[in-house]
Amino acid sequence: MAKSSQVHKRIVVKLGTNLLTGGGCCLDENTMSSLVAQVAQLHHKGLELVIVSSGAIAAGGYKLGLTGPSKGISFKQVLASVGQSRLMNVYEKLFAQHDITVAQALLTKTDLSDRSGYLNARNTLLALLELRVICIVNENDVVAVDELQEARFGDNDNLSAMVANLVDADLLLLLTDTAGLYSADPQHHPDARLISEVDRIDSEIERLATGTPSKLGTGGMVTKIEAAKLATVSGVTVVIADGRQSEIILQLVTGQAKGTRFLPTANKLDSRKRWMLSGLGTRGKVIVDAGAAQALKKHHRSLLAAGIKQVEGHFERGDIINISDSGGGRLGYGISNYSSGDIEVIKGGHSRQIATRLGYDYGAEVVHRNNLAII
Ligand code: GLU
Repeated sequence: MAKSSQVHKRIVVKLGTNLLTGGGCCLDENTMSSLVAQVAQLHHKGLELVIVSSGAIAAGGYKLGLTGPSKGISFKQVLASVGQSRLMNVYEKLFAQHDITVAQALLTKTDLSDRSGYLNARNTLLALLELRVICIVNENDVVAVDELQEARFGDNDNLSAMVANLVDADLLLLLTDTAGLYSADPQHHPDARLISEVDRIDSEIERLATGTPSKLGTGGMVTKIEAAKLATVSGVTVVIADGRQSEIILQLVTGQAKGTRFLPTANKLDSRKRWMLSGLGTRGKVIVDAGAAQALKKHHRSLLAAGIKQVEGHFERGDIINISDSGGGRLGYGISNYSSGDIEVIKGGHSRQIATRLGYDYGAEVVHRNNLAII
């Protein structure tokens, strides 16, 4: 597991709208220039960096002179379409000053939910790192539609965690306009304390996040904590920090700057398990009893039919399924050895009964522990 003092090699830097606009209505090139200079310095030291950048909607609104209150998703898609090239234009210009070539990747959840789409995106991003090109990723807002909840990342915080997973990053920096996660809402509680280190994201940490909303961006502390959870279970260190502080990226990389640091809760997982944990390719769900939940979480056992109480959705043998406890808590994901129809028949029964109940069997485990990724 990473320690605070570890020097990280592959880093995803997420830059939020509030940071890039300085809280105003257009891109703040001074702020961007300082952030780019820091990324460039690390790049020239040999580190590998990917940027996940918001700001397209803000840039588009400013260019069209439409900076008033939001007029719905399709309007934001239009603004993003106008603003994305403006955003890239600024990055292109700023990185050129440091002799760095940039690339653009616009991703959606739908692209990545397909295993081959995921692998194509991964191969492209890894090849860009190899070529020493800095890739600037944003959600493909033009096709990502809010009404289809499942088809949208919803925010660049979660997107950045998925990108960190995609490229096997060891550090994810979520840079925003607040110093990190506080023990209470600092706007209402002057004695609120900045939490400097979190070794496990539990319900108390999730509760604290709901009291710290963001002013302008799509995400807030809630989506940052979701992102931190996804990344830390895959072995990535995550820091939420105030991107406006000078030299912040340089200091965060060596563990010096202030912010909230989330330690990885697992060693690096293999790429296939990280994909599973992102929940992207999930086809259905099984709900397990308390005994099975314990066996999976604490003892890293396989999931057996005996512990399954309920099946939801339609999936085939070989599909990835969500595994939840009866309180609705997500335990993790796994590749199912049985279809949803089969599990309907064998659930609650002993593994020895599978062949009799189905007329065939694919082994004692519904999900083998080697094919499980537990959160
Ligand atoms: N993709 C959006 C943009 O570029 C930002 C989404 C977010 O703020 O998380 O404006």
